[in-house]
Amino acid sequence: MNDLDSQRLSGSLKLRGYRRVDDERKADLILLNTCSIREKAENKVYSRLGELRELKRDNVQIGVCGCVAQQEGERILARAPWVDFVMGPGNVGYLEQVLAGGKTIAIDFPEDRRYDYLTVDRPSATKAQVTIIEGCNKNCTFCIVPTTRGREVSRAFEDVLDEVRAAVASGRVEIELLGQTVNAYRCPASGRDFGALLSAVAEIEHVRRLRFMTSHPAEVNDSMIAAMRDHPNISRYLHLPVQSGSSKILRRMKRLYTREKYVEIIGRIRAAIPEIHFSTDIIVGFPGETEEDFQESLRLIEEVQYGSLFAFKYSPRPGTPAPRIGPPVDDDVATERLTRLFELHERIKQQRLQSYRGRILPVLVEGPSKHDPAMLSGRTDDNFVVNFVADPATPLGSMLGVRIDQAQHHTLRGEAVA
Ligand code: SAM
Repeated sequence: MNDLDSQRLSGSLKLRGYRRVDDERKADLILLNTCSIREKAENKVYSRLGELRELKRDNVQIGVCGCVAQQEGERILARAPWVDFVMGPGNVGYLEQVLAGGKTIAIDFPEDRRYDYLTVDRPSATKAQVTIIEGCNKNCTFCIVPTTRGREVSRAFEDVLDEVRAAVASGRVEIELLGQTVNAYRCPASGRDFGALLSAVAEIEHVRRLRFMTSHPAEVNDSMIAAMRDHPNISRYLHLPVQSGSSKILRRMKRLYTREKYVEIIGRIRAAIPEIHFSTDIIVGFPGETEEDFQESLRLIEEVQYGSLFAFKYSPRPGTPAPRIGPPVDDDVATERLTRLFELHERIKQQRLQSYRGRILPVLVEGPSKHDPAMLSGRTDDNFVVNFVADPATPLGSMLGVRIDQAQHHTLRGEAVA
């Protein structure tokens, strides 16, 4: 989502005659788009601002955008007075006013979230990310997102469809719908839900692959599952963050489901779409997490066999209740748990990658391979990169069958088949 905000900022600047330079010393506007999901990301912003200090001139503007801007507000100007403005995620559509000097601290959430999708500066020729819902109404006790991105606001159904049609017309045949809780989408005017939107987007001509993230397990419903089941161009790969395998920890996190409920949801989706794969996010070292709680996360990873997994050490965030919920887990213990978790998942991932050898997988062509320009590169439905031999004149965005002959550490290698 931060990436897409950067694409929107970049597009709106290009429209105003700015152009990108490859060296920040040549820039007359420097924007840092920031993430505050964990403390490490936040610290990086201040060290980067320290480096940028020497570039500040009267004709050089420096702005801090994104979630750290939202969270820190005036404190950024106090700590780094060479910064010209601070602009939160609610103001991405209002960059023009901010640059004109009207707002030094733009951290409100305007009623009208202006969203000019025609100017988004999309880096990929084949893929477009499309926000359908901003903000988050869940109150997970570890998470800063509801503070930094505000309450949920869904876009109008027809607006989303218009954006997707425009993206497809420009060759972006892979669409990724975005939201902090993407499946909480509800059209403000008609009440149509996420499943209805998924179906409508999947039915737009030339949408070859449709992805979405992030789904909250408690928002998975029959209409979402039916839309996925009935549209083969919707990816059979679902990111469904669980955060922990222990019901005790899930309750403390206020995730709104138990381990058993989560497993039941996975089972319902698998019953409707047997070929589905899952990925997830896990937090280790949440306050009060015991070795037994952690073991439950490991057992869940074994049980679900996630294709990809994003795991993080718990990081206390300002204003969130989690730090008061249980005793902190020693940092060395959390680090060691994270290592064990990644070791387990690495084995599962390697088994999956090896199981693809000899199989023909549908791959969406994205461009020449980075390592060998004589080969093409694309992704499988479950988002693994495949480098493969094919006719170099294959149009970008084509869907090809690729016979996989090698599984490397993170990527696959193969040859296109007729
Ligand atoms: N909205 C999504 C959800 O609720 O599942 C994910 C949002 S967040 C940008 C991505 C991931 O960061 C979360 O799924 C969680 O695993 C991780 N995360 C969020 N807050 C964290 C914290 N305080 N410490 C460590 N990881 C955190």
